[in-house]
Amino acid sequence: MNDYVMTIDGRPAETAGTFDVLDPATGEVFAQAPNCTPAQLDAAMEAAERAWARWRREGLSVRRKALLDARRILDDHAGELAELLTREQGKPAREAAEEITDAQAWFTYYAEVEDPPQILQDDDSARVEIVRKPLGVVAAITPWNYPLTLASWKLAPALLAGNTVVLKPSPYTPLATLRFGRLLSDALPPGVVNVVSGKDPLGAWMTAHPVPRKISFTGSVATGKLVAAAAAADLKRTTLELGGNDPAILLDDADPVRITEKLFWSAFENNGQVCSAVKRVYAPASRYDDVVESLAAFAGSRVVGPGAAAGTDLGPLNNEPQFTRVRELVGDALTKGARAASGGTALERPGYFFAPTILADLDDGFRVVGEEQFGPVLPVVRYEDVDEVVRQVNASRYGLTGSVWSGDPDRADRVARELDAGTVFVNTHLALQPNQPFGGAKWSGIGVENGIAGLHGFSEPQVIHRAPGA
Ligand code: NAD
Repeated sequence: MNDYVMTIDGRPAETAGTFDVLDPATGEVFAQAPNCTPAQLDAAMEAAERAWARWRREGLSVRRKALLDARRILDDHAGELAELLTREQGKPAREAAEEITDAQAWFTYYAEVEDPPQILQDDDSARVEIVRKPLGVVAAITPWNYPLTLASWKLAPALLAGNTVVLKPSPYTPLATLRFGRLLSDALPPGVVNVVSGKDPLGAWMTAHPVPRKISFTGSVATGKLVAAAAAADLKRTTLELGGNDPAILLDDADPVRITEKLFWSAFENNGQVCSAVKRVYAPASRYDDVVESLAAFAGSRVVGPGAAAGTDLGPLNNEPQFTRVRELVGDALTKGARAASGGTALERPGYFFAPTILADLDDGFRVVGEEQFGPVLPVVRYEDVDEVVRQVNASRYGLTGSVWSGDPDRADRVARELDAGTVFVNTHLALQPNQPFGGAKWSGIGVENGIAGLHGFSEPQVIHRAPGA
């Protein structure tokens, strides 16, 4: 008996075959998830298309209520869903609970948001109005770092705008999303949200499928390029939320000790597996040693362990390829002369555990600084001239977020506005809110999620130009 099943057309789908789901805290298989067949994907797409014919005509109040129901379901099942997240993703229980709260916040925001039609002109010669039309079936594809938060980023605005959805979680973390799909089917008409799971090429089948009119994708740059190419073949709309290599730039008046804790968690939340986490710190030469020492002391006193264990600050990496990549990038830096001020090695225990690592004495030429490393590792780069840092940072192909840390709002603001990134924080980082449009410059993405702009990513404008009666 398998506890985890797909939801197609409002019903639990037959499980034709399964794949293993591993616990990253042990490296061992603990569950089986259904492997969607091509016929089942067709069934999910067709169910979503049928449901769309009705859902697009539902009044806004019905769609708003559906989002509030989704929020209530998350609330009613918060404990169970958070436990699943910890087990399959590895995150500490506290962060898993926060993930559920965040997902709820997104459903609440979109349930309440106002986006009235825009009147361009209303006089004797014409009334010109812009209304928003839903796109149709949305193929939503999520990564393994925040399965439920990122699903809510897509589901809430897609449904409010009048679309229906076929949602696919990462094969590393399918379970919480599958369970949420089953729970949602109590609150939504059949076919409005379908959840499928499977090993790839399921994602590629979805993007090549003729039914969806929009692909909402969050994942790596490499996969994002494949998604864009597949979408182009059929002119499907896309939103791509991709990788980041986000800098935190400390100005010389920032107090290293005062900012340590906030800066540390800006980099190490979810064990560094956050697209918009701080991936590299630029510290002024005059404060460099204090910054490194303070971060290393804080990192060294964190508790690393299974997410389910009480007191755990940092869990394991989510999967073996990610674990290998982090080890490789840190090994490369140490071989080339960088210094591990704390950590630097994997833990000698089962599972994908790596000690929280602060790397010093390195520059942008090191791979761990120049590439997205997505793990519990923070390189600290020394600088003399902040304009040179801005130039270097802007030379990156990534541009998701960045932050500037200073007590002087004018200086911070000047640097913040120079950065080529979708979001720039001052004296904080990872401060994401449902009302803030979130998206990346350059390789970090195309389009935005969240806010009214994110809602508009799930619809298209229609102009109604009405002349006086015939
Ligand atoms: P990934 O690109 O390997 O996988 C993401 C999803 O795409 C998974 O569901 C996967 O099964 C699916 N997929 C794989 N091949 C596909 C294909 N050819 N067509 C369609 N879908 C396909 O990414 P990942 O390793 O799961 O996640 C980590 C990456 O996600 C990091 O680069 C991170 O920065 C990025 N990310 C970005 C954001 C953001 O909002 N910008 C948020 C979280 C994670």
